Amino acid sequence: MAAKYIFVTGGVTSSLGKGIIASSLGKLLQARGFSVTIQKFDPYLNIDPGTMNPYEHGECYVTDDGAETDLDLGHYERFLNSPTSQANNLTTGQIYYNVIKKEREGAYLGKTVQVIPHITDEIKSNFFRLGETGNFDIVITEIGGCVGDIESLPFIEAVRQAKWDLGDHNSIVIHLTLVPYLKSAGELKTKPTQHSVKMLSEAGVQPNVLVCRTEYPLPTDIRKKIALFCNVDVSSVIQSIDAESIYDVPLLMRKERLDEIVLEKLKIGKTKDPNLETWKGFLGKLKNPTKEVNIGIVGKYVELQDAYKSIAEAMVHAGAVNECKVNVDWLQSENVAVDNLSEKLSGYDGILVAPGFGERGIEGKIAATSYARNNKIPFFGICLGMQCAVIGFARDVLKLEQAHSSEVSSDTPDPVIDLMEDQKNLKQMGGTMRLGAYICKLKKNSLANQVYGKMEISERHRHRYEFNNKYLEQFEKAGMIPSGINPDTGLVEIMEVKDHPYFIGSQFHPELKSTVENPHPLFVSFINAAIDFRKGGERTK
Ligand code: GLN
Repeated sequence: MAAKYIFVTGGVTSSLGKGIIASSLGKLLQARGFSVTIQKFDPYLNIDPGTMNPYEHGECYVTDDGAETDLDLGHYERFLNSPTSQANNLTTGQIYYNVIKKEREGAYLGKTVQVIPHITDEIKSNFFRLGETGNFDIVITEIGGCVGDIESLPFIEAVRQAKWDLGDHNSIVIHLTLVPYLKSAGELKTKPTQHSVKMLSEAGVQPNVLVCRTEYPLPTDIRKKIALFCNVDVSSVIQSIDAESIYDVPLLMRKERLDEIVLEKLKIGKTKDPNLETWKGFLGKLKNPTKEVNIGIVGKYVELQDAYKSIAEAMVHAGAVNECKVNVDWLQSENVAVDNLSEKLSGYDGILVAPGFGERGIEGKIAATSYARNNKIPFFGICLGMQCAVIGFARDVLKLEQAHSSEVSSDTPDPVIDLMEDQKNLKQMGGTMRLGAYICKLKKNSLANQVYGKMEISERHRHRYEFNNKYLEQFEKAGMIPSGINPDTGLVEIMEVKDHPYFIGSQFHPELKSTVENPHPLFVSFINAAIDFRKGGERTK
């Protein structure tokens, strides 16, 4: 069958969780046997979020093919357990860039280039790109931002046209809104929903389904009222009540029959009930932990948890497999220093040093790696975290006291972390890091080899600096070994300390590949090591 399209828009306010609703619906449809992909269209002007500070935009999620994308793609992958790609995330910036490039090439044959039809055509052709590959039965498109924003207008117009192009029953629009509870009135209020649907209708788009975020259950009379004033069937007014975990949402949506309603409207017909056994098994373990660990994550964007979304979720996945409650504390690296290490870090069964860029907080990160190494606390360093572990080892063990990364100290006598050769002459910032999936060969019998249970892996990257191989012999002799190496370039991808129960750092980002159905082995084994550490009573506080 030709692909069917589901568009997800949002109204009233941002942060309603469109990404989670899209992912949950995708999961339910996938669990019925359909092949599903989810894509996100963002209204901002950056070509991608790669040049944005995490405080602005949260984590930048990297795909196998090296696209720097919105963090919602992480949810899509974690829920659907299938990879996304460059084609799954478009921005206004990319759309305009493509159109302007074509204009310069003379592709518009002398026409005046305009928002309508040229921008909207470019948006539409990207709406359909993945569907046209023939690989998917259903394409879910999440439109970022809020209906009514000036910058969303071309996207909403493109949705209107796409619906028309596709014809009846080949596409639907799901609109996500908020039904707030007014404490003083003791009532759930439908007016914001009515207004946002009205705004959507004025743009020519009549939603087929309304998903209403609410703190309290929506009674029938409220559903009827919304249905009447928004022109949808009562059964298409879906309640999305605040959930304990984002992973509850597919089951909550199933209860509301969202998947059945969507299939009915798309005239796909009856299928078997969704098979959610694995999902339920995961939730069962997540909710019934038999043990507990405390993990300290040292990072510099910790005030905004979206900045480390994939790490936080990978912890949840790894906790569930181990039937272990993982209590994560987010520690501001600027507040960690050589003279307060035991005060800050002795309460943890595992320490993770997070990825990052630049100088701020780096000494705290380096000190944290040394503390974990010296006190035999399970340690996991990711990207900059691994680089900090290398610097700490160089300073403490190799006695290269001024060792550093040339990212932070351009005149260090010992740049144990140095700029990659092919990064040296780059002028442009956007999309120029070492990005996406690369193969890595593991050292036999190393910790990495045991953790993965194989000799070759593929992981995703986002960095400009690397371990400086000039120092390799010195490190190996002293007990910090490269246990993962890129076979084509010799670049060190994993470092581990031998004389330690669990000390590992990866240049890549394993968190980007952890899903509900495939929790990442490095996170699973890290939590496992933390459980052992706690059992051994080795914690000092
Ligand atoms: N800033 C470091 C680099 O560019 C680490 C990057 C990261 O942690 N993602 O190599």
